[in-house]
Amino acid sequence: LVSRELHPHDTIVTVGDASFGGQRFGLVAGPCAVENETQLLASAKAAKDAGASVLRAGAYKPRTSPYSFQGRGPVGLEILADVGREVGLPVVTEVIETADVDLVASKADMLQVGARNMQNFALLKAVGAAGKPVFLKRGMSAKVDDLLLAAEYIMAAGCEDVILCERGIRTFETATRNTLDLAAVPLLKQKSHLPVVVDPSHGTGKRDLVAPMALAAAAAGADGVMVEVHFDPPAALSDGPQSLYPDQMKALGDRLKALLPVV
Ligand code: PEP
Ligand code: MN
Repeated sequence: LVSRELHPHDTIVTVGDASFGGQRFGLVAGPCAVENETQLLASAKAAKDAGASVLRAGAYKPRTSPYSFQGRGPVGLEILADVGREVGLPVVTEVIETADVDLVASKADMLQVGARNMQNFALLKAVGAAGKPVFLKRGMSAKVDDLLLAAEYIMAAGCEDVILCERGIRTFETATRNTLDLAAVPLLKQKSHLPVVVDPSHGTGKRDLVAPMALAAAAAGADGVMVEVHFDPPAALSDGPQSLYPDQMKALGDRLKALLPVV
């Protein structure tokens, strides 16, 4: 189902007014997590002002440490849906448990499967049957073919609208949080008709590297980028060091728009 050979035409995934694939470029932006109404609204406005077409923010956070901020859960979902409506953007948010899929699907315009769950096959089947587009992130130790087979699970469950996301992989290099594999972009597009989006925020872990790698992703043929932005990054409850300041987000949005139309 994911194969380009059997399905030669680019799939275009539409979320609200945003589209990804077939020469359409989507800009997904927002904070790592929903913290509270004020934080999310201010950060969402920064995303919107920069030309974002989809708002991102996690209500359920899969954190490495059980003592780190775990997200606001159902309350966070409500805040996200309200803020998305207020700024006029569709929303994508991560679902980490099969039991939460229906609830998340009732509040979000697109479901995100995170790197840590890329091979949670029960979750892949459940999101595939939820009736919403799915944003699938590459596992941190997953090969390109593993990512494609994970997407195959989602499509086999009935979902035609899957976006593949390169978000960096673990290598011997620790100078960046992950090693962003930009060669995966043209490779995935050769192998599959599905749109490919790059996340340079988790891919580098460093704010100053996000814009250059977002622009490089666009040059490599990505169908969109996902970028973390926070109205006050030093105060962020998660991923502050990789979150753009609003003025940096605006500058990146402008440079992306100069390269290609963001829709
Ligand atoms: C995220 O996008 O919020 C996230 C947790 O990213 P990843 O799954 O790529 O680590
Ligand atoms: Mn994050």
